[in-house]
Amino acid sequence: MGNPGEFLQTCAAGKVWLFCSQCDTAVNFNAVEHLDCIENPHYWGPEPWWHDTRVFRCPLCLGEQQSVLHVND
Ligand SMILES: [Zn+2]
Repeated sequence: MGNPGEFLQTCAAGKVWLFCSQCDTAVNFNAVEHLDCIENPHYWGPEPWWHDTRVFRCPLCLGEQQSVLHVND
């Protein structure tokens, strides 16, 4: 997953998840409303898109949540 194209393909394939701490459950990356993206200031490697914190609206609780990305085939 070394480039943004692979990242987008993985997202499109439904393999990327975010965690809602309010619902205590994982929600699919494609199912949420994306509000913001916070760069990880401690990550300087070649795949920064995997290390951002995503601010999103959870479709279950409708709350604004923050989560790092999780990949699950
Ligand atoms: Zn939720």
